[in-house]
Amino acid sequence: MAGAVAGLAFACTRPPAQRPAQLPTPPRVQTSTPPPAPAGLDAEPEAAALRGKVLEALPAGSRWEALGSEARQDGSLVWRRARYRVQLPAGANVKAATGALVKAAEDAGGVLLASRPEGRGQVLEVGLEHQGKVLPVLRVHLRPSEDKSSPQVRVAVVLDDAGMRLDELDRALRVGRPLTLAILPGLPHSEELARRARQAGLEVLLHLPMEPEDPELASQLGELAVRVDMAEEDIVRTVKSALRAVPGAVGVNNHMGSKATADPRVMRAVLRALREDGMFFVDSRTTPKSSAEVVAKELGVRVARRMVFLDNDPSPEAVRTQIRQLVELARRHGSAVAIGHANRPHTAEVLAEMVPEMERAGVRLVPVGELAR
Ligand SMILES: [Zn+2]
Repeated sequence: MAGAVAGLAFACTRPPAQRPAQLPTPPRVQTSTPPPAPAGLDAEPEAAALRGKVLEALPAGSRWEALGSEARQDGSLVWRRARYRVQLPAGANVKAATGALVKAAEDAGGVLLASRPEGRGQVLEVGLEHQGKVLPVLRVHLRPSEDKSSPQVRVAVVLDDAGMRLDELDRALRVGRPLTLAILPGLPHSEELARRARQAGLEVLLHLPMEPEDPELASQLGELAVRVDMAEEDIVRTVKSALRAVPGAVGVNNHMGSKATADPRVMRAVLRALREDGMFFVDSRTTPKSSAEVVAKELGVRVARRMVFLDNDPSPEAVRTQIRQLVELARRHGSAVAIGHANRPHTAEVLAEMVPEMERAGVRLVPVGELAR
C-alpha cells in the first residue's frame, strides 16, 4: 500500500521526461573484461545503487549526458566508474545542487572524494566504501543552465506543522508540483512522513520548534525545542537531534520562534549547526525582529524568507486571496516564498486548484531550497 501510494505520488510530482528513470543505467560489469569475479566480490550493484541515489537528488528538469563508464578492479573487487555531464534547469543554483548531491551521497553511505569548481560549474567525485576500501564510482560535472533569455518567476510553498498524520503527504502531492513539506520532530508520524515525502520526490525540511514570546505557547514546545536560556552547545545538540528525527531533511524553518529568532546569539548557534551539514534556513518571520537573515549572511548559510502566510484564515476564499498576493509579490521580486499548513483542510486543495492560473501568470512552483541564497 505504502509503495503504491509513493509510486503514484512520484508519478504526479515530476513529468516523466525529468524522472531519474531516464538516466542511462551504466552497464553491469562485463564478464569477459575484467575476468569473472568470484561470487560476492562484485561491487558494481552497490556502486550502481549509490550512483542512482546521488543522481536522484538533481533538481527536476536537469538534463544529463552519460560520458561513459570504465571498469575498475582492485584485488578481487570489480566495479565501474561512470561519468556524467549535467545541465541544470534555468534558475537552479550550482552551489545548491552540489549541496544536495553531496548530502544524497552521504545519506546513501557514499564518500565525497572531490568537489571543485570547473568553469561556471562544479565537479564532484563520489566513492563507495566497500570492505574497508573507497572505490571511485561516480564523477558528475554540474553546469548552470545556458538559458538566460527567459528568467522565470518562481514561487515556493512550504507546508509546515506536518507529522501528525500520514495523509498530510497525500494532500501535498495532489498539488502535483514540487512543494516543500516541513515536519515537526517527534510527532507520531514524523519519520515515516519524511521518508515517504522524500521517496515521492518532495523536498523535506525540519520544522524546528523555537521559543515564542508567549510563555503559554512556549510551555507546549516539547523536548526538541530551541530556547533562549540554552547554552550554545545545547542548541547545537538539540538542532542535531531534531534533524535526526526528520531523516532526509535538507533545510530548516522555524516553528513559532518569535523570541528565539530575535536573539542573534541563539540564531548563530542554530545556523552554525546547519552550516556543518550544508543546510539552508527558511525564516518563517514570526517576528519582524528576526535576526535569522543577517546572521545567516554573516555565517555564509543560505537563507530564504517567508513573504506570505497562506492560511492564517483557513477558509478557501482567504487562501485564494493570499495565493494571488503571493503571485503579485513574486512577479515584482522575481520570486517569493509562502508558508501554509500541512494540516489545514483547504490549503493544498486551493493551491492545486490555482496551479493553472499561477502558471498562466508565468509563475513556476519550485522547492524552497531553490530560492535560498
Ligand atoms: Zn509551525
